Amino acid sequence: MFHGRGAESGKGGEGSGEGKVRSEEWGVGSGESGDWQEGLMGLCVADRRGTLLGVMLDLDQNDVYFTAFSLAIGDLRVARRFPTSNFPLKTRYFNMEHSFLAYLRGRCRSLPQVAVGIGDDAAVIQPPQANLIACTDQIIDGVDFDSSEHGYADAGYKAMAINLSDIAAMGAVPKSALVTLALPKPNATRIAGDVYEGILQAASEFQVAIAGGDISTYNGPLSVSITLLGDVPAGDPWLRSGAQENDAVLVTGFVGGSILGRHLRPTPRVDLANRLRELVDVHAAIDISDGLSLDLDRLCAASGVGVELNIPAIPIHDDAIMLAEKSGRTPFEHAWSDGEDFELIMTMSQADADKVLAMDHECEITQIGTILGRTGLWKREAAKLVRLSPQGYVH
Ligand SMILES: [Mg+2]
Repeated sequence: MFHGRGAESGKGGEGSGEGKVRSEEWGVGSGESGDWQEGLMGLCVADRRGTLLGVMLDLDQNDVYFTAFSLAIGDLRVARRFPTSNFPLKTRYFNMEHSFLAYLRGRCRSLPQVAVGIGDDAAVIQPPQANLIACTDQIIDGVDFDSSEHGYADAGYKAMAINLSDIAAMGAVPKSALVTLALPKPNATRIAGDVYEGILQAASEFQVAIAGGDISTYNGPLSVSITLLGDVPAGDPWLRSGAQENDAVLVTGFVGGSILGRHLRPTPRVDLANRLRELVDVHAAIDISDGLSLDLDRLCAASGVGVELNIPAIPIHDDAIMLAEKSGRTPFEHAWSDGEDFELIMTMSQADADKVLAMDHECEITQIGTILGRTGLWKREAAKLVRLSPQGYVH
């Protein structure tokens, strides 16, 4: 415990109750990500006069110190620290949420869309002019990422990114998020801090306000659940059910092989979706979470149509080619079914598609097929349509 700068510098008031505030040296509450202090949370105490004090508890080495701090809004200021033996206190246990929320308040930018954010019983969110778009998705250690291989910040980033991708698939703008963490008891504080690094990074990249959430600890794997709210500034949200016969089917980016690492830090197509919404009339859209063919099949099923695919046009990611070298499957098979690409599939009139395809965008956009009146996924072989079966990740 007292990792980082705190480990070397926290001598000022030790054992004496004297010494000046050493918050700079401890680096607590300054809002920089590198200043995260492991073990800062866990137990809060009040002295006999009711002054709120905190304790830093070294679970690894049984090295226990009380540390006085004031819970200024959004800031934890370390005042002094004392060996526990010198300082009899009435202790009052809080769950770690109290001090963590104070930390979070300091880290979260306030944005106009959230009038009241972290710290009250509920958030007060500015309602949109038209449709409120809401989605929720959850990341579980061992299912959606693996903490023995990847950092917790990646889990936090991914939890935001998959929701952002869903918002993009609706042609919407993300605005605010509610974040719920279920943390494994060992190292809960450190894990919460790491997860939030990723969450806050994605939130700041897409101007999302963290409006609130919940934290609890238990004997189980990390779960990060995020509910994301957004709106559609003009026009209607994109649905899966709007595809029309003869629509062009477009896909963003490249697909397949995301398991090599891309799935943890995808680029949600939020900005692109919002530019396209202003440029053309997107009839239907879905993001690729479970596999290109499976999600395309879902879009077609919701619209009551099918699609004739131009198989050679499907944009196969280099990761799919690399993965195929050891998986025994073809790059195409990976592109067809891997999933977690978080790219968008969109349908629109051929005229609109031609307009989109003639322009430069932040990523590749490729036409992979044309919507048919008959249901199913098809390819043309020797002038005949051959049915293809969708494959992907089924939850
Ligand atoms: Mg989706």
